[in-house]
Amino acid sequence: MKWNDKRYHTLDYEMKHTFGQKIIKLSLDGGFTCPNRDGQISDKGCIFCSELGAGEFAGRRNLNITEQIAQQKIMLSKKWPSGKYIAYFQNFTNTYAPVDKLQELYLEALSATDIVGLAIATRADCLPPKVIDLLGKIGENNYLWVELGLQTIHKRSANFIRRGYDLKCFIDAVDRLKEKNIKVVAHLIFGLPGESVDDMLETVRFIGNLGVWGVKLHLLHILKGTDLYEYYRNHPFPLLSREQYISIVCDALEILPPSVVIHRVTGDGAKHLLEAPKWSLDKLRVLSGIDRELAVRDTYQGSRLSKGNN
Ligand code: SF4
Repeated sequence: MKWNDKRYHTLDYEMKHTFGQKIIKLSLDGGFTCPNRDGQISDKGCIFCSELGAGEFAGRRNLNITEQIAQQKIMLSKKWPSGKYIAYFQNFTNTYAPVDKLQELYLEALSATDIVGLAIATRADCLPPKVIDLLGKIGENNYLWVELGLQTIHKRSANFIRRGYDLKCFIDAVDRLKEKNIKVVAHLIFGLPGESVDDMLETVRFIGNLGVWGVKLHLLHILKGTDLYEYYRNHPFPLLSREQYISIVCDALEILPPSVVIHRVTGDGAKHLLEAPKWSLDKLRVLSGIDRELAVRDTYQGSRLSKGNN
């Protein structure tokens, strides 16, 4: 098969292809906050955002970056006793600080032993020219990608999740990052209330045409302690079943260009916080379900794209 044993272009494949070995991501907390929570844009945050700013598995913020990297390596060493690493700034908005501070944090991470690159999660509206310049410079000599949470192209859903910026802002951010040759990863969520399968696939098609380097596909999780949890209790809405989710992911993979690196096809909800859908805790079953469904369909990533699309 094109991507070893998979019918889609996994991050694991891409990393082995690029670095010749297994690459492990270390999730770091750079001590940032988020303009969608600190009052700059809003003080409510995205409706699904948890207390930890979407970083339930990151290092502890009372440790510095070097210490977090050491801690994460030890934590992951049972599963992967040795390897090289990508330092992943995950919690909150990881470009939301003065440029000097950002540079210091990023370079500290890159200087740690066995770190081969950097991944930075942020918002499309938190990339002023100075930050783009800094990222461009870092990207000249280091492996770097930037992750942006789009979730959906649909305005009604974007308002519902309180994303805080419009689609134009996202497109502009992607263009400016690409101008600096920075790889962009877009996060999408399937299962937002009121979205049909066609709506979700419209978002996927849009992202495929935008020329991003990678995509993370998430299932909408209802996490305790979030505003979404309260909303769901007061206004229950249908959640995707495992079978529906698997089918949508397969549909999405079929229409994404083969070059797009698939970073994730199932989300990671912290078990103690996850209210629903509980089936998502069995990640292996979801992953094998996707493999099986693609095999039954005899399709691949990009197999429903017309020729010339990639
Ligand atoms: S952008 Fe991220 S950190 Fe900020 S409110 Fe939304 S999910 Fe939370």
